[in-house]
Amino acid sequence: MSEVFKGVFTQQEPIPEDGIAAALDVMRSGRLHRYNLVGDEVGEVGELEREFAAVTGARFALAVASGGYALACALRAVGVKPGERVLTNAFTLAPVPGAIASVNAVPVFVGVTENLTIDLDDLDAKAGEARVLMLSHMRGHLADMDRLMDICTAHGIIVIEDCAHTMGAAWKGRPSGRGGLIGCYSTQTYKHLNSGEGGLLVTDDEEVMARAAILSGSYMLYGRHGTVPDEEVFERVKYDTPNVSGRMDNLRAAILRPQLARLDAQCQKWNDRYRVVEDGIGGTPGLTVIERPEEESYVGSSIQFLLLDWSDDAIEDVLSRCAARGVELKWFGGAEPKGFTSRYDSWRYAPSRAMPETDRILKSIVDMRLPLTFSLEDCALIARIIRAEVGAVWQGQGAVRRPA
Ligand SMILES: *Cc1c(COP(=O)(O)O)cnc(C)c1O
Repeated sequence: MSEVFKGVFTQQEPIPEDGIAAALDVMRSGRLHRYNLVGDEVGEVGELEREFAAVTGARFALAVASGGYALACALRAVGVKPGERVLTNAFTLAPVPGAIASVNAVPVFVGVTENLTIDLDDLDAKAGEARVLMLSHMRGHLADMDRLMDICTAHGIIVIEDCAHTMGAAWKGRPSGRGGLIGCYSTQTYKHLNSGEGGLLVTDDEEVMARAAILSGSYMLYGRHGTVPDEEVFERVKYDTPNVSGRMDNLRAAILRPQLARLDAQCQKWNDRYRVVEDGIGGTPGLTVIERPEEESYVGSSIQFLLLDWSDDAIEDVLSRCAARGVELKWFGGAEPKGFTSRYDSWRYAPSRAMPETDRILKSIVDMRLPLTFSLEDCALIARIIRAEVGAVWQGQGAVRRPA
């Protein structure tokens, strides 16, 4: 009898009891809106902003309604105009090109490497085409941030980081989101902090922060934020910055703060699980494990591997065999977007050029979530199942590899 995994890939941990208690307090107070404060009270949202700024080492943090909102807010805060081209990753999730499209700007896709990071040679080649790079650390993989920043600095490119999968990660000890001008994070259910929906934005730049606070829907009550520049900075920008409401509320902030306090320990738990799966699938013939550079401190909340140059049929076969044994894998290369997977050419509102090297890699990416509700034994079992099924398909078909 072959082993079957019974866990649920979409089951997150419960909200910690102190978060639940804090949420009840907010509800009992009746003051759920971030600006509904008594006296000199900072409020849950303001406190969260202070704590998140401290954790990331940023001067300013702004809590907003979603990660996608934070990305669009960042683009507005740096003055991206309709029709403007914005560089971004070909391998990312729909909210990233979506944020660019939401300000009527046009994504220019940059290729992906076998390490699942942005192709820096391609970035260098396209650097003259745009003023802003929206850099997505997709699935938690950090590019060489030193070389990336050198390229962007040389071309005067503003970097906005999408850290939806890298909250708690770092490059050479510098927290992810702190390499460029603005870092954006998500607290949507499947990210590293869970408030259902939610987002955060960090920056050291006073004017960006003032604009972002007003953009997020301050009703000119920005003085009540957790981290703010001087009033004179707001005076400079307040008359020409629109209010595009997307605030966070006290209820979400209340359940996020206790989670933020535990972030390091949670990241450690993800990495323990990641390494068990990584070890378990390593060396499987036909399967490529993603190499992680020494400079990168990652958070293994999901794991990817490549089935490079396999035929579509063979990859589908692996997916269905694993699914039959309870292991839910996602294939980024699939022709149709399913669940969270998608390819740059499925965003048909955005023009794209042919990228054969990138297509070859995208086609091969298999992805799996690693929720903390899985035990290390669960992870070892999952790895055994993947190893067996990939191995069976690889061996069963002499012709899995597509002709070159
Ligand atoms: C989740 C996610 C976002 C932002 O998502 P929201 O659902 O808007 O919070 C951005 N980029 C990536 C890569 C994501 O996975």
